[in-house]
Amino acid sequence: MLVGTMTLMEEARRGRIPEEIKLVADKEGIEPDKLRRLVASGRVVIPKNIRRDVEPLGIGETLTTKVNVNLGSSQDLAEPDAEVKKAMAAVKAGADTLMDLSTGGDLDLIRRKILESVTVPVGTVPIYQAAVEEDLTSQGLFNALEQQAKDGVDFVTVHVGVNLNSFERLKRSHRIMGVVSRGGSLSLKYMSETGKENPYYAEYDYLLEVAREYELTLSLGDGLRPGCIEDASDRAKYMEFIMLGELVDRAREAGIQAMVEGPGHVPADEIETSVKAMKYVTDGAPLYLLGPVVTDIAPGYDHITAAIGGTIAGMYGTDFLCATTPSEHLDLPTEEDIVEGTIVTRIAAHSADLAKSEVKDRARAWDRKMAVARNELDWPAQFECAIDPKKARQIRHRRGVELDTCTMCSEFCAIRLAKEAMKREDDTEKGRFEKENTC
Ligand code: SF4
Repeated sequence: MLVGTMTLMEEARRGRIPEEIKLVADKEGIEPDKLRRLVASGRVVIPKNIRRDVEPLGIGETLTTKVNVNLGSSQDLAEPDAEVKKAMAAVKAGADTLMDLSTGGDLDLIRRKILESVTVPVGTVPIYQAAVEEDLTSQGLFNALEQQAKDGVDFVTVHVGVNLNSFERLKRSHRIMGVVSRGGSLSLKYMSETGKENPYYAEYDYLLEVAREYELTLSLGDGLRPGCIEDASDRAKYMEFIMLGELVDRAREAGIQAMVEGPGHVPADEIETSVKAMKYVTDGAPLYLLGPVVTDIAPGYDHITAAIGGTIAGMYGTDFLCATTPSEHLDLPTEEDIVEGTIVTRIAAHSADLAKSEVKDRARAWDRKMAVARNELDWPAQFECAIDPKKARQIRHRRGVELDTCTMCSEFCAIRLAKEAMKREDDTEKGRFEKENTC
């Protein structure tokens, strides 16, 4: 228990540099004291439950863009081992964190098995367990939160921005799709059935005490996130951002690390405003985006629509991207969907990093290495640089043709032809020079 001791944020404020900060600073290649100041101000979070031994990971300003992968059972498909396999596959594919969103089967068992099988930070959404196993009551919500914290969960999504105030804005909005967040809709269900305030909002101080006890990082959920392009930027969404900003302040005052979640479905030209507004009203809290998908018309390809939005959002300051899989809007993801979604989201995160002033030099070194390998037609080196070497190798060798170029242009390989042309020019120049300087 952390009772009587300081949280990571409080230690950082006292000028101390705990091991977690040293390790993250080393991984990110920044000065430990600079990172300490960012943690102290709340602009970077390092999610790590005191009951769990995870590899510390930083999310926020001046750090590389991180990728979370969602997994978990549903009421129709609930196999603990399958979820563990997905968790391990996601980590192998490069996921920085995982979230267990299980709503079917033995929820405690699935969560504990996932926590045991990986060393990356793991998050959950406690309201799901309250809705499945407990009555959706204030007591049930806090029981689920405390149980998950005790098990070692490192961060939790709590939909505290869905309260009577934002509910009112929602009722006055003209959305096509209403609410598409499960946690958001469950919070609305509670408020409409009881006429009472969302318990996580009403008893936020108690929630902060629980967070303190286990050093839980809060992920303040965007329960009113729009679910389609047409609804992308309405008052209910911005009202929720403002609430989240106030709740970030209260978390920071209590020494609790907090990040905020954002939408969802946003057209490309509105992403910059959306990201900057969220960053502004939350005083630079680490921003965790679900997508955003930039069009609604591509089911089966939403990992791509989300990667387009994720790249733009990352470029404007989003710190943490939630992987979207090809099965988004269609089905519970399979292990293959999870792997593909993870890699595609990592591509979005890296593409954003190439354009982020604080991290672009480090990010560009990777691309530079690939460019040199391509120019040399050095295939093993290219595979080594590839974000998905297995797929690159499979495509390269699938026809069984072994060339030093590739079958794309074969003997008209532009790289080789241009090199030969340059060499010919050099040789001609050299010959001319030698001729002119020979007595
Ligand atoms: S053959 Fe064409 S595509 Fe292939 S390496 Fe050469 S230039 Fe590139």
